[in-house]
Amino acid sequence: MIKLIAIILLAISTAGAGYFGWTQKKSSAAATEQVAELTQKVEEADKKVEATEQELAASKELLPPLMTKAQELEAVKAAFSYGMVLKDLEAAYLKEKKALSTERQLGLAGVRLLTNGTKDPATVEAFQKALEMTDWKGQQKVICAAQNALAAAGEKVKVMSECQPEAAAGKGESKAGSKAAPADKAESKDAKSSDEKKNDKKLDKKGAHGPADAHAVHWEYEGAMGPENWGKEFPTCGRGKSQAPLNVKGPFEKVRYSLAPDYKQGQLKIVNNGHTIQVNVPNGSKIRIDGRPYDLVQFHFHRPSEEHIDGKPSAMVVHLVHKNMEGELAVLAVMLREGNENSVIKTLWTHAPKNEGPEVVPDGVMFNPANLLPKELDFFHYDGSLTTPPCTEEVKFFILKTQVSISKDQVTDFPFKMNARPIQPANGRPIYSN
Ligand SMILES: [Zn+2]
Repeated sequence: MIKLIAIILLAISTAGAGYFGWTQKKSSAAATEQVAELTQKVEEADKKVEATEQELAASKELLPPLMTKAQELEAVKAAFSYGMVLKDLEAAYLKEKKALSTERQLGLAGVRLLTNGTKDPATVEAFQKALEMTDWKGQQKVICAAQNALAAAGEKVKVMSECQPEAAAGKGESKAGSKAAPADKAESKDAKSSDEKKNDKKLDKKGAHGPADAHAVHWEYEGAMGPENWGKEFPTCGRGKSQAPLNVKGPFEKVRYSLAPDYKQGQLKIVNNGHTIQVNVPNGSKIRIDGRPYDLVQFHFHRPSEEHIDGKPSAMVVHLVHKNMEGELAVLAVMLREGNENSVIKTLWTHAPKNEGPEVVPDGVMFNPANLLPKELDFFHYDGSLTTPPCTEEVKFFILKTQVSISKDQVTDFPFKMNARPIQPANGRPIYSN
């Protein structure tokens, strides 16, 4: 079963290669206008698949850029939903009357999958045939990339143990057994396990957080691509039952553990990704939640705060995003209420790009995320989701009860007027307090 899923994923990522030959042939074939139009779509999708595959294979980055890649994959899938591509491809191959090459067989399977999904027996058969022909070892990187991408998109796929971050990195940081654990979890939804915290300058230089995202499925906070419609492109946003943010109000259930952040100073790396200002945090900053360590990977801002306390938002909120060895996510939210100027935010705003673009690394500017936190770390807690597409669930939220001040001018200087997802239904989820 694992092998089969892996093959399917492999084919998704190689679908591009498989039908490439076909799209090249289109000039010699007497194609109808419709086919020509379709072909263009396929070519666009082809490029996207290729780019996604390459970048993912090279990617050992943080969650957000990976999410973007996963979104791209979604867009590619949509391009096939017509079924026309499959029909034409099958017809074209039939005409050739010779045995298909491995790539073409995979491509055919991939297109079949994209069109009919995994439930179509012919899809499975096509992959099995492809498997007989393919070089398994050589494709592992691509399989891992595709698996991780799909997991990030919220698909229930199993990420093979050899694709787990620490296995890929070959690092001995993990405790004995922790390597095996995530792989044994059947159908882990681990978006999270997908990506890696190891930094990846290549990706940053490419502006994975910035303009390169132009290929991603577009979403916004207002209008046709606003939160009410995210579900059309990102099913979890619409159908998920544990979505964030929530309105935090009692009665609360009691938790007895506390949070223990251990953040370190490091080089400031800041990006305007078109949706928020985000600081990418170098390795070394951690938090312990009920004794379990999570790495701080990035933090970013929303205006106004996404979460409400007793029905009211604050001026802004900082979301500090953490990930543990199993790839599970935890977000620590620090609410910012209007008041005195905040000197820590001042440093950030000085270097934050006003417009969307690549990550900026201001020479010699150091930053310690610990300075963003209040002294008191009492919190509210609930299980939620990413608050931006693809809205992946199983994200633990911790909202500090003590708020931190930010001046009115500093709020105004934040380049996004409104970047907060509306409150989501609790669906009976408990909210905890310590
Ligand atoms: Zn956020």
